[in-house]
Amino acid sequence: MNKNDIATILIEDMTTEGEGIGHADGFTLFVKDTVIGDTVRVKVMKAKKTYGYARLMELVSPSPDRTCAPCPVSKACGGCQLQCLSYEKQLEFKRNKVKGHLQRIGGFGEDVTEKILPTIGMDQPFRYRNKALIPFGEKDGRLIAGFYAGRTHSIIEQSDCLLTPEEYEQILLVLLNWAEKCHLRAYQEETGKGTLRHVLIRKGFSSGEIMVCPVIATRNLSEETKRLLTEQLTELKPRLNITSISLNVNLKQTNVIMGTDGLINLYGPGYITDRIGEISYRISPLSFYQVNPIQTEKLYGTALKYAGLTGAETVWDLYCGIGTISLFLAKSAKMVFGVEIVPEAIRDAERNAADNKITNAAFYTGKAEETMPALYRSDPEKYRADVVVVDPPRKGCGAELLDTIQQMGPERIVYVSCDSATLARDLKILCADGRYRIGAVQPVDMFPQSVHVESCVLLQRVGNTRPKAITLDVDMEDYYRIKGDRTNG
Ligand code: SAH
Repeated sequence: MNKNDIATILIEDMTTEGEGIGHADGFTLFVKDTVIGDTVRVKVMKAKKTYGYARLMELVSPSPDRTCAPCPVSKACGGCQLQCLSYEKQLEFKRNKVKGHLQRIGGFGEDVTEKILPTIGMDQPFRYRNKALIPFGEKDGRLIAGFYAGRTHSIIEQSDCLLTPEEYEQILLVLLNWAEKCHLRAYQEETGKGTLRHVLIRKGFSSGEIMVCPVIATRNLSEETKRLLTEQLTELKPRLNITSISLNVNLKQTNVIMGTDGLINLYGPGYITDRIGEISYRISPLSFYQVNPIQTEKLYGTALKYAGLTGAETVWDLYCGIGTISLFLAKSAKMVFGVEIVPEAIRDAERNAADNKITNAAFYTGKAEETMPALYRSDPEKYRADVVVVDPPRKGCGAELLDTIQQMGPERIVYVSCDSATLARDLKILCADGRYRIGAVQPVDMFPQSVHVESCVLLQRVGNTRPKAITLDVDMEDYYRIKGDRTNG
């Protein structure tokens, strides 16, 4: 097939990124905005030797699994790649995605299929996000708020996103009104001109507390402008529980959203609180917090179940962030050690432990792959690992850390992952020498309507032999630096 050719095809499969896959004359075509079972007329936009990319021209006959996308701008936005697919099929898609990665990248056989449980879904797969980061822009000289179209940096005007709480729209309208009154322009990345960059809005779903934090490109906003912002936002108060208003300063000419050039607190304590299960967490504007609290509770519940704690175990929580998983597990463990690279997050973790009166958790700032082996070598009994939990960012754990974990030989490893491709790569390494095997894989739908899938995996040690001592070469200077950082322990 060639560019501009027209074909009518049946969509037989979908890629892990949510594009439909069909065939015409033995040629494979990838088509956005289609779902399995659709018959579509498409136009080839780009042709390679055996495959190509085509654009949907006409939906000839819709799949029985196609639903009407409720969002009017879902196509232009591109954030909800699966909105046209029934929710039940979305959950199936995610399980298949995990399975595909475990087999193709992880090298696991067909027998892994029975270990992969059905995806845990939501009863209400919209309005689940507690956090919105909305960019400002200008259209015909007028300030607008919306979202970036596809992978571009042009902003499409839209004040309500169906994934976030309805009341965020009212906040946005107040902000636009305030900015207009104060003659604030939208920041332009190309020129570095303008003031208003983004707004971060967060809500504690269990507490109802809302945080509003505009990101601005100046340290010199007038007192009158700040006062007006607080006044207008707090006027929403009878209806909305806005408890924290602050300004984040980002002076850099970059597309990184949150700045490190200052945080100006205008109203409230500078943070909101939320509760997952029995644990309460303080969330400040810069700290990482899971975006879907309803599913997070199910995810952590799965991690707790897989950890199989009896109260006698020493548990490591690597990549612990503000200590969310550590504190969730602490009541069932003897001791929990958390490691995280961001110092502010560790401070939050310690405060969260204190707020919840948890005394059997200690947190360390540092790289997981360096801090854990160093501490273990300093006192192999105290820092033993009965259970290791990892929750790395998308890039996964890396061989170095996996090597350390294997040498410490915990009875169980619980791998929480937001990227099934790197998960598969890491599980292959962990299971390579036959000492660990997959006990269960639980996909959890943290991001309904999108192609992303979270998974919680249990690895069990085969046999009872614990390795004697690790032989890793650890830099002693590094070790003392880490000991100097120790807190609570
Ligand atoms: N478990 C937490 C956070 C998971 S996000 C929760 O559920 O909320 C991943 C975390 O890993 C981030 O907080 C990030 O700062 C941290 N991180 C990234 N690289 C790291 C490394 N090499 N060592 C330790 N932590 C790291």
